[in-house]
Amino acid sequence: MIEPTDPLSSAEQLRYARHLSLPEMGVAGQQKLRQASVLVIGAGGLGSPALLYLAAAGVGRLGIIDPDHVELSNLQRQILYTTADCGRAKVEAARDHLLALNPHLQIETDPEAFTLANAAHLIAGYDLIIEGSDRFATKYLVNDACVLAGKPYIGASIRAFSGMLAVYAAPQGPCYRCLFPEMPAPETIPSCAQAGVLGAVPGLFGVLQAHEALKLILGIGEPLIGALLTVDALTLRFQKLRLPRDPDCPVCGDTPTIRVLAEAPALCVAEAISRNSAEALPWLSLDASQLRPELRWIDIRTPAEFAAGHIPGAIHAPLDQIEDFAAQVGPDDDLLLYCQAGGRTVQAYHRLKGTLHGRLSLLEGGYEAWLRSRVAADTVDSTSRVSDAAFGLQHSDRSDIAGMEASMPTRSVRPADQEDARR
Ligand SMILES: [Zn+2]
Repeated sequence: MIEPTDPLSSAEQLRYARHLSLPEMGVAGQQKLRQASVLVIGAGGLGSPALLYLAAAGVGRLGIIDPDHVELSNLQRQILYTTADCGRAKVEAARDHLLALNPHLQIETDPEAFTLANAAHLIAGYDLIIEGSDRFATKYLVNDACVLAGKPYIGASIRAFSGMLAVYAAPQGPCYRCLFPEMPAPETIPSCAQAGVLGAVPGLFGVLQAHEALKLILGIGEPLIGALLTVDALTLRFQKLRLPRDPDCPVCGDTPTIRVLAEAPALCVAEAISRNSAEALPWLSLDASQLRPELRWIDIRTPAEFAAGHIPGAIHAPLDQIEDFAAQVGPDDDLLLYCQAGGRTVQAYHRLKGTLHGRLSLLEGGYEAWLRSRVAADTVDSTSRVSDAAFGLQHSDRSDIAGMEASMPTRSVRPADQEDARR
């Protein structure tokens, strides 16, 4: 057990030499980092760079919670992992890489989702939280759990070429619900459409999250409390908007209505439909034995997605015109719908099932499952460590929270840039 005042070892002095020469930090600052603990919720595009920088900086105890396994499609932005990690639990791969980077650390991993069942206990165990999830349910759960526990967290949301960042739930500071009081309705949340993102954008925000965490631990600078940073990465326009605590906030306001933690029903519309339906859907796996030769493959994705690549021979019938397509279907037709990862086909199924004359099935895992099967076939004879499981039908790359904020009811926030400039 390292005591706060234990001197830095020779190896630590060398490793952190560039920290130690900062007057704002010195040995005392490095000791603070060593004594600190940070929980990173979600080891994906945001969590990867955040964890790397926290580990490199010497934050003594890191917690990582993420239920997913590394997939090939993660590697475009989740820089904590390598190709050889595909198929491994993210938390295990993350721990290995972080300890390889800095063996002085204590890494605690949890290969589960962050849920109502574990939220309060997990958050109680750390000084600070970094929220790097891509699901609304998790964002609201993290927020409420941190507010109720009186523990600050650094939240970020990204989409395509933009994002936003703030320190929430700090004393006297605002929380996420001060900005977005209620969870958006399921029908407004994008489905598995996989909002795209340029790889370096989550990198930028994950680094900023780590940076804010280090500032908070060290007690230096001005943490992003009471302000919201928005970034348009295409124009590189950074804006700092005022975000005071809302006295009417349902969780951190003066008369809060949320006093105990509750599960938020935060699903995208496809998940909501799927979960609310008692009916078993006619999923077909890519297993060749299930694929009837008379099947007609129907690609319901957008024209851009179809143009980027599709299953050979597939007919393109975009989801927003799916009823027009259905009118042309005969009673003998045997259709297999697919989208990118499976979510949108559930929507299509429910829109079609009452009126369609032919037989209807859904492809499990969508186009990505087909891609994975192709990659697996290509690598089957190789000595790569990439396992079959890497190409299994895991549902990751979930609907990014991405950009939902734009359509959510928000309080007005005004630029703080000018005022800051005057300081
Ligand atoms: Zn609030």
